[in-house]
Amino acid sequence: MNLRVTAGRWAFFLLAALITAGCAARDAHGALFPPVAARGAVSEPGPETDEPAEAGLSTDEPADESLYHTISEYGEPEAIIDNSAPLHCYLLYPKIGIPDIDNVIAEWANNIYKDAKKEMAGLLANDSKIEGEINVQYNAYLVEDRYIGLEEVGFYSHSHLAHPIDFFKTFNIDLEGKKFIANDEILDFSRQAEVLGLLEGRLLELFPDTAGQLGDMDGSWLESIVLNHTGVDILLTRGMYLPSYLGSLKVQLTYEELGGAFILTSGKGSAPDLSEGALSPEDTFDPNRPAVALTFDDGPSRFTPRILDLLEEYGGTATFCVIGNRVKGFSDVVQRAVAQGSEVIGHSWDHKQLTNLSGESIESELVSTYDAILETAGTDLKLYRAPYGAINANVTAVSRKLGFSLVGWSVDTRDWKTRNADAVHKAIMSNKLDGQIILCHDVYESTVKAMERVIPELAAQGYQMMTVSKLLALSGAPLEAGTVYRHR
Ligand SMILES: [Zn+2]
Repeated sequence: MNLRVTAGRWAFFLLAALITAGCAARDAHGALFPPVAARGAVSEPGPETDEPAEAGLSTDEPADESLYHTISEYGEPEAIIDNSAPLHCYLLYPKIGIPDIDNVIAEWANNIYKDAKKEMAGLLANDSKIEGEINVQYNAYLVEDRYIGLEEVGFYSHSHLAHPIDFFKTFNIDLEGKKFIANDEILDFSRQAEVLGLLEGRLLELFPDTAGQLGDMDGSWLESIVLNHTGVDILLTRGMYLPSYLGSLKVQLTYEELGGAFILTSGKGSAPDLSEGALSPEDTFDPNRPAVALTFDDGPSRFTPRILDLLEEYGGTATFCVIGNRVKGFSDVVQRAVAQGSEVIGHSWDHKQLTNLSGESIESELVSTYDAILETAGTDLKLYRAPYGAINANVTAVSRKLGFSLVGWSVDTRDWKTRNADAVHKAIMSNKLDGQIILCHDVYESTVKAMERVIPELAAQGYQMMTVSKLLALSGAPLEAGTVYRHR
């Protein structure tokens, strides 16, 4: 097997996605993990071969060639290459230049090769046609000229396996101290619930379709964290928390998101600006001008501040229907929204479809989110939007019992589906909007791009962009618990 073929086979065999914050690949749910090319060995992605994909391993998703790369910011590449049957091995790792560290990494690599070779020899006794492959490559980040974050990523597969075994291994190295950095020196493990909330929120943001399918998140994700320039990557192997058809994943959390949970002394980005909005939340309604309520679900996210910027610039407010488990991680954003007169209400703790839950669980979804918002921003609105807008008699009964009213919508931008700023802009601006509640999601860049046009245009047309509470209050009647409000 030549190396080009090996590189091409990534496209067929590794159902893993590279997902990083701020990366254009965030929409590419099926994006393949970069079939990182070996420096000096394969500089370009190999052509796809005509070999049929093995059963259960194929994917219709084309490989995204822009993702073909190896990042090697420090160290010299070392390789274990073996093209002899039955095991084809192509395993790369860096040599850092600190013997104690290099020995550990080389031993890890050699063990993978030796174990596979041994297993293949055993299988060969019963199946003379068996073939196997190891393909492991790496990214090495040099952070702040002092730390190295090394991620080894790849797979081991042979013809008797239903799907490849993914390898994820991370090493974090302190060049100054000439030592490995333990994971609990990077993240404050006493705050792991917080980080887990961020991770879970990110997964839901990336794969909203999998809401309710997330497995129980224990501490195993802490095994595979790696430093990079903007935060840490968390590597999740196939089937860890998410349905296995999504393959292995890399999720990036930024220093800003991690806040105080990131404890490595250096290597931190600057803290976000916490300055409060200057707008007063006081009532300034003009009955001669139209009014509209923009609502944003599923956040807060890294896109929310930009929406707040626009609202502040054009003198509007909005309603943010937040996922409870994201509130703590974005406490500054939540506080800023409230300070500038926008309102923050619940959208469940973890985006579960409430109609599938027991009364007790619905209650806990609502109350935990209400409490998180109250603790973070000091606001106590008994108002929420049900995930998916899904409501049944059970949901209504619990809402009534707890005194919560529900927010629906009358204009659905379907921004989660189109992910297209023009389409979102059109979905909003083609309506008569006076008194309407507009449904958007502040978790997509395309929605932010749409808002860059929608908010100034609404302002120019004289619309008063206001919170749902305020829009509904214009009707004069108090809100009733258990009732869904879809427009003024
Ligand atoms: Zn939602």
